[in-house]
Amino acid sequence: MTNAEPPIHETCMGFCRTCGVVHSLPEGRAADHGREMMDLFSRIRRLDYLASDEEADPQLSFDYLFQEGRGHMFGVLDCLDPEGNQVVLRAFSSLRDGVRHIAGWVPPIHSDELWDEVVLPAQAEIKALTRKIHANAHDPATAVGIREERKRISRGLVATVQDQLLFTNFRGEQRFLRDVFSNSGDIPGGVGDCCGPKLLNHAALMRLKPMGLAEFYWGASTPSGSRVQGRFYPCCQEKCQPILGFMLCGIDELS
Ligand SMILES: [Zn+2]
Ligand SMILES: [Zn+2]
Repeated sequence: MTNAEPPIHETCMGFCRTCGVVHSLPEGRAADHGREMMDLFSRIRRLDYLASDEEADPQLSFDYLFQEGRGHMFGVLDCLDPEGNQVVLRAFSSLRDGVRHIAGWVPPIHSDELWDEVVLPAQAEIKALTRKIHANAHDPATAVGIREERKRISRGLVATVQDQLLFTNFRGEQRFLRDVFSNSGDIPGGVGDCCGPKLLNHAALMRLKPMGLAEFYWGASTPSGSRVQGRFYPCCQEKCQPILGFMLCGIDELS
């Protein structure tokens, strides 16, 4: 029963149904690495920080990515490898325009096959329908029908992605999102796109032991003030906390 779970308000934690306890991860030294990232961002103003100025991709510049008041969440996971060496993982929350693999950043959780074969075609269809809705603005009856069609495709896309999203935890267990999500009710879209889950999933696959996690926002602050450039934020309650109990499971037993 999920109703009996205690409210959770801290940085990175979630209730684990298997163990019946809350698993958590402190900030540790990750915030220091986050601040280094921000210093770097201030200087280079682009996502491909490993590339030289000459090699830099213009489509990964913040001027391009942060148009229309957009900004993004970024995350840093401070880890130890099995030999005790420090490994720092970095993640950006999922970007529009299909930016997925960039050197120096952990990859997305869902596979390239899912992206190429399901997400991209559906997104293209949704975009085409949006154009059609604009073109039929003078004909409300037709526009309503196209809107319904767009909603159907968009819901189908979310459901397919959710069906195939597979998480790995620190016991080496793998489970699909629907078997992991610990809140009752509908699973929101975009679960697994945030930095925390991307970082933890990658660390588990690489057999790294996480020591600290920090997530910060970069880009124009949101009008409501809910996100301010340079500030650190806890993992979100809506999408991340319900999966973090599973994802963090086994973390305390890693040597
Ligand atoms: Zn989140
Ligand atoms: Zn557990």
